[in-house]
Amino acid sequence: MQGSISLSRKALIDRISVMTFVVAWTLMILRVATEMIAGTTGPVGLFVLLLGIVAGYLLADLLAGVAHWIADRFFERDTRILGPMLIAPFREHHDDPLEITRHDFFEVTGNNALITIPVVLLVAVFPISDGPLDHFLLTIGASSTLFLFLTNQFHRWAHMPVPPGPVRWLHATGLVLTPSRHARHHQGLHDRAYCVTSGWLNPLLDELGLFDRLERAFSSGRANERSDA
Ligand SMILES: [Zn+2]
Ligand SMILES: [Zn+2]
Repeated sequence: MQGSISLSRKALIDRISVMTFVVAWTLMILRVATEMIAGTTGPVGLFVLLLGIVAGYLLADLLAGVAHWIADRFFERDTRILGPMLIAPFREHHDDPLEITRHDFFEVTGNNALITIPVVLLVAVFPISDGPLDHFLLTIGASSTLFLFLTNQFHRWAHMPVPPGPVRWLHATGLVLTPSRHARHHQGLHDRAYCVTSGWLNPLLDELGLFDRLERAFSSGRANERSDA
């Protein structure tokens, strides 16, 4: 009984989070569009817009990858606050990768909506001058928050045995995380291919060994602290 009550509360929070995100993001994009139409127009405006969208998409992939790496490699499922919100869902996903396909849109996107709302509000009130750089930054803000919100939906699609037709087209184009791109994460120790928005950054970050290097730096820092104590 207790479980069903907490599940209902979580479902309600997810729905409120998603609807609040959608309203806030829509208001924010109206402001961004108004500023851009009044300011940077023509070929320069189009270039700034496209560059900002791509940069925001890459930023979302990077941030999602960093959050995923932290959730997989640090803390425990019973860590206070972070445990149930962030750590447990990622660890449980390793145990049962198909469970995400049984969740509805609100459950899949609720947490990211809640976390992203403050950033959306910040972008909505960002003081800007009438120039390409500020418009570029606004576009990055709009793009990255939208794609962070959608990240777990992309992740879910990558696990679906038979995704809907339009999603199969997205997978064929490689525009979103593809099943093959994401499969590398579920092989072995789950210590590769952390980025789950587009997964475009995975080859680069894995080749650089970025997360391995950071982990080694953290563990040597901790060892030094222990030896100093
Ligand atoms: Zn993982
Ligand atoms: Zn997965």
